[in-house]
Amino acid sequence: MSVNIVSPPEGMAGEGYYLTSFDKAIGLARKHSIWPLPFATSCCGIEFMATMAAHYDFARFGSERPSFSPRQADLLMVMGTIAKKMGPILKHVYTQMAEPRWVIAVGACASSGGIFDTYSVLQGIDKVIPVDVYVPGCPPRPEAIIDGFMKIQDLVANESLRRRNSPEYQELLDSYNIK
Ligand code: SF4
Repeated sequence: MSVNIVSPPEGMAGEGYYLTSFDKAIGLARKHSIWPLPFATSCCGIEFMATMAAHYDFARFGSERPSFSPRQADLLMVMGTIAKKMGPILKHVYTQMAEPRWVIAVGACASSGGIFDTYSVLQGIDKVIPVDVYVPGCPPRPEAIIDGFMKIQDLVANESLRRRNSPEYQELLDSYNIK
C-alpha cells in the first residue's frame, strides 16, 4: 500500500499524530480480516486443507475463520473441477455474498477446466462469475495459494470504497446477469 506523508495542520503537529484517508484505513482493516468461503469440489481442496493446517498456517493472514455461510464471507475460493451442472449453484453462492466480495480461482480446473476439456465440465468459473485472481497449477502448492491470497489482499487494501458503485462494476455484473 502506498502512503503519502503530508504536513499536519497547524497546531496538530507532534508525536503520535497520524493522518490517512478513510479508504486506506478501511482497506487496511479489511485486508487483515478476510473471511474465505472454501468451495472445494476435488483435489485442489486438499491443497487448501494443507494451506489451513499448522505448517502453512493461513491464520497468519487473519483468515483463520473459514465461513461456510456465503452471507458471512467476503472471499470465495473455488478449488476443483466445476461441472456445468454445478455452475448455477456456484453462481447462487456468489450472489448470496454481500459486497464487497472477491473471488479466487484456485488451480487449473477452476481457472480453465484444466485437463477436463469435455462436454460436462465448465471451462473456467469466469464463465459464470467474475474472478479477481487465478492461481495456476494442477494442483497449486500451498505457497501458490498463499501467493494468490496475498494478491487478493493487495486488491482489498487498495480498492476505492466507491468502486462497487461505479458504472464499470455494474456493467461487469450485468455481463454475468447478476443483479
Ligand atoms: S487442477 Fe488438478 S489438482 Fe486441481 S482439481 Fe483440477 S485435476 Fe485436481
